Amino acid sequence: MHFSKDSDERFAFLAEWYDPSAALLRRYQLLFYPKDGTVEMFDVKNQRIFLRRTKYDELHQEDLFVGNRINVFSRQLNLIGYGDQYTANKLGSKKERTLAMIKPDAVTKMGDIIQLIYEANLIVTKAKMTKLTWKQAADFYTEHQSKSFFNNLLQFVTSGPVIAMELMGDDAVSAWRKLLGPTDSGVARKEAASSLRAQFGTDGTKNAAHGSDSLASAARELEFFFPSTAGHGPCNTAKYTDSTCCVIKPHAVSEGKEHLHSPKPTLTPLT
Ligand code: GDP
Ligand code: MG
Repeated sequence: MHFSKDSDERFAFLAEWYDPSAALLRRYQLLFYPKDGTVEMFDVKNQRIFLRRTKYDELHQEDLFVGNRINVFSRQLNLIGYGDQYTANKLGSKKERTLAMIKPDAVTKMGDIIQLIYEANLIVTKAKMTKLTWKQAADFYTEHQSKSFFNNLLQFVTSGPVIAMELMGDDAVSAWRKLLGPTDSGVARKEAASSLRAQFGTDGTKNAAHGSDSLASAARELEFFFPSTAGHGPCNTAKYTDSTCCVIKPHAVSEGKEHLHSPKPTLTPLT
């Protein structure tokens, strides 16, 4: 294919779409031309055009990064890779992933917390509610095993369900830590009154949420909650007997309105 970068810059992605009628994942090369907002798709397996270059106003350059889910003509596509080095360099440089965990004391504040996450330009790319066992909590917090507060900490994080989330965005690790505020909720109220721990935490242990402290911790902690090998890791706590299904439609997700649909404080957390 011919294109001149100067006059017709394009970004290339590998995108995946689950085709429900064939019950299989289809892969496409997706091209986006920022100059005129057009999009073009090629079926990777069959080597043919799937979508002729077409204008699509609802797709914006800021939506285009690996890990994001986009909507193209009512088809939900997962962007799973950059299609060329140019795109990776230009659009992928600062995007990071981090692990956020809403601790048992703040699970009913999930809606407010997700709202803050989106207002900080981070997105939730994975989420899981789970009740950690003592051993799982000890593994997760292994760096603190010799600390005096270790037992209290484990007692607290195993006292009810937690919500683990993968967050993605520019400088996600530090952006999420900044939203959290200082470790001790009391200190947070003095030093960062609008932070999440100031608003939703109680004290030095019960401090509403966790955030990875570095890229290396983020990698380890994401693997802990969302392992690359399917079927491993802490299991979902929701049971068929006490759960319901809530589907937030793509347009609401892209408008960042999930928090309007997430549990209100009156809803009892699933155990
Ligand atoms: P974080 O990265 O800001 O969460 O803080 P740390 O990694 O130092 O500690 C992990 C968690 O242990 C904190 O979020 C608190 O829940 C708890 N914790 C940390 N320091 C103390 C402390 O001095 N006393 C008590 N009781 N709990 C603490
Ligand atoms: Mg820490």
